[in-house]
Amino acid sequence: MSDRTDCLFCRIASGEIPADRVAEGERWLAFHDVSPQAPVHVLVIPKAHIESVADLDGESMAVAGELLIAAAEVARSLGVSEDGYRLVTNRGTRAGQSVFHLHIHLLAGRDMAWPPG
Ligand code: AMP
Repeated sequence: MSDRTDCLFCRIASGEIPADRVAEGERWLAFHDVSPQAPVHVLVIPKAHIESVADLDGESMAVAGELLIAAAEVARSLGVSEDGYRLVTNRGTRAGQSVFHLHIHLLAGRDMAWPPG
């Protein structure tokens, strides 16, 4: 599943590289971002390698839905659901993607600006 030896998040998903794990399912993993941009900053990733949201297709449709549901569940479990949170996924370097394995940022615990920078 998480078979890309050159991919940081595949290596985290396989357990080869440690992460501060929050929750996981059969096909997804949630862990704290190493460089948090808000009091709560969790990343939700598919365990299988998918480069970005642009690479989702009919085959990965189910896991894409699971990622969103997982993010909402993690937000509830961390007690930030009522207060509000933001989900972000960056696609491509211009949007700020730095790790080329699909991930959803769950950000909460502070006021969020709009539009995003
Ligand atoms: P993006 O820039 O949207 O690709 O997001 C990548 C995120 O991964 C950034 O917020 C980084 O802080 C985070 N990150 C990078 N390396 C690690 C790591 N080893 N453990 C947890 N988060 C990481």
